Amino acid sequence: MTSWRVEVTPDCIASGVCLALAGDDFALGDDGRTHPLREVTEEREAVLDAAASCPMEAILLTDATTGEPVDF
Ligand code: SF4
Repeated sequence: MTSWRVEVTPDCIASGVCLALAGDDFALGDDGRTHPLREVTEEREAVLDAAASCPMEAILLTDATTGEPVDF
């Protein structure tokens, strides 16, 4: 199974969309931005949905082995 590296960029505006779609994978930090709960995760549909739904395109997914961007 493929593993993904999950990053949230400073473009995050804390809209909460990813928290609603993937509350087991993201959490709001003290800095007012959302952060991934795990830097590397197995492929997860909820994470993909969150990345695709982020209004700021602030969620970056890359293949943890190859570094290639994950399409969503
Ligand atoms: S959906 Fe995007 S902008 Fe909204 S909290 Fe998550 S990372 Fe931030």
